[in-house]
Amino acid sequence: TVRVRFAPSPTGFLHLGGLRTALYNFLFAQQNKGSFILRIEDTDRKRIVPGAVEAIERVLTKLQLIPKESPGNGGDYGPYFQSQRLDLYRSNLDTLLKNGNAYACFCSPTRLDLIRKDAIRRREVPKYDNKCRNLSRKQVEEKIRQGLSHCYRFVLRSEESNFRDLVYGPYDYNPAAHEGDPVIMKEDGYPTYHFANVVDDHLMDISHVLRGEEWLISTPKHILMYKAFGWTPPRYAHLPLILNKDGSKLSKRQDDLRVESLFSKGFYPLTILNFVTKIGGGFDEKLDDLVSLDELVDKFNLTSLNSSSCRLDMNRLDLINQLEIKRRAKYPLEEKMLIDELKDIVLKRLLDNKIDKRVLSEEYIRRVIHWASSESRIVTLKDLASSDFSYLWEPPTETSFNSLHGFNIKGRSLDDLISIIGSSNEGFDRSELTKQLKAFAKKENVPFPVVMKFLRGSLSNLKEGPSVGEMIEVLGIKETVSRLSKVKK
Ligand code: GLU
Repeated sequence: TVRVRFAPSPTGFLHLGGLRTALYNFLFAQQNKGSFILRIEDTDRKRIVPGAVEAIERVLTKLQLIPKESPGNGGDYGPYFQSQRLDLYRSNLDTLLKNGNAYACFCSPTRLDLIRKDAIRRREVPKYDNKCRNLSRKQVEEKIRQGLSHCYRFVLRSEESNFRDLVYGPYDYNPAAHEGDPVIMKEDGYPTYHFANVVDDHLMDISHVLRGEEWLISTPKHILMYKAFGWTPPRYAHLPLILNKDGSKLSKRQDDLRVESLFSKGFYPLTILNFVTKIGGGFDEKLDDLVSLDELVDKFNLTSLNSSSCRLDMNRLDLINQLEIKRRAKYPLEEKMLIDELKDIVLKRLLDNKIDKRVLSEEYIRRVIHWASSESRIVTLKDLASSDFSYLWEPPTETSFNSLHGFNIKGRSLDDLISIIGSSNEGFDRSELTKQLKAFAKKENVPFPVVMKFLRGSLSNLKEGPSVGEMIEVLGIKETVSRLSKVKK
């Protein structure tokens, strides 16, 4: 049976890179009727960010990527916080100490630092010289009795450690040729990532490890640890590196890549999930821009992932969100959520102004949503709070009528214009109205565009923007007439 895990370290907030790992693990588990597990790798105590675990669980829930086993939900293989599994690491360390695959290391930070500096001076990659590997059992016992502080290291041997990655293919790298023996348990009794990761993947019966490409180079080391225990390693699939559009590396500090900041900018869960699937392949057929999570499960194919790095094109996110708003507006329940969301946005925006009840009516808000999404006027509902759309929520101020951008129509002519528009019904035919306005322009002997600019100015105080027909349609005939009548004064 397939058992996969998402194993974030709570050192920051979930960003698009981490989300891609979580999503692909989820898709793979679902597709194989297996289990998706959340394990928190919190052994690097200094780097823990308070609240990060809660945030990760919150985001996964919101995205519907619900783990079958997790710190919150429990499961048969818990605990799911590495910090609560210290006794397991200790007993497995003892196994390696007994079978000669690990040893206590008493080298001081000063010595390690000198080794490092020396290597740098010689333009070599620093590596530990494995000095303590050769201590006799008696020497070790003596040092421990003296209370000398120590860590534990794994004996890296030049053994077969090549493997076949499901994405990258055969991978051959001999860690012993390049690295010193790695620390597996620190002085503080906490295991390092490499050790805890191997012990847990084994104890949690993980069948496949899907994780970022940055761990590919560590995998041979992990394989050697499995060998030292006499365990069978899981299958590995490394996911291609994600870069920014300009080719630079993603950083955890880039706030615009945080999933929660995308939520607060008005992007929806399905938008974000779809966006992430556009990055590095993993599907046999080219997917439409917006597909459901179930469809993603169906179409996912691990082996069609690209192994070359891929770049983020944030414009795509905008396009997908437009589709998602249109999709949601089709279903009554989701439409209602959109309406409530926009109502909130508008209320916040109008906080200091007098609120016109009319614009908060469900009917009006619905009309705005359907118009703005079907005409692709917005990327998120939040856009409707920008000054470009002020006219939707409040009439232009009296003073702004003085600046109708030089196109003014007054007196009897204005009365005629108002009555032409006033005699249309809501749900009027745009081209019919245009015809009448053209006739009006001819009669008044003003160019048609001047009439339109005048209308646009009086309705919105905008020089450019949506077509006048759209504006009248959304505002409604009554509101249009009322705004025009104010120009008269
Ligand atoms: N804790 C590691 C990380 O945050 C997990 C790597 C792995 O999945 O093995 O990236």
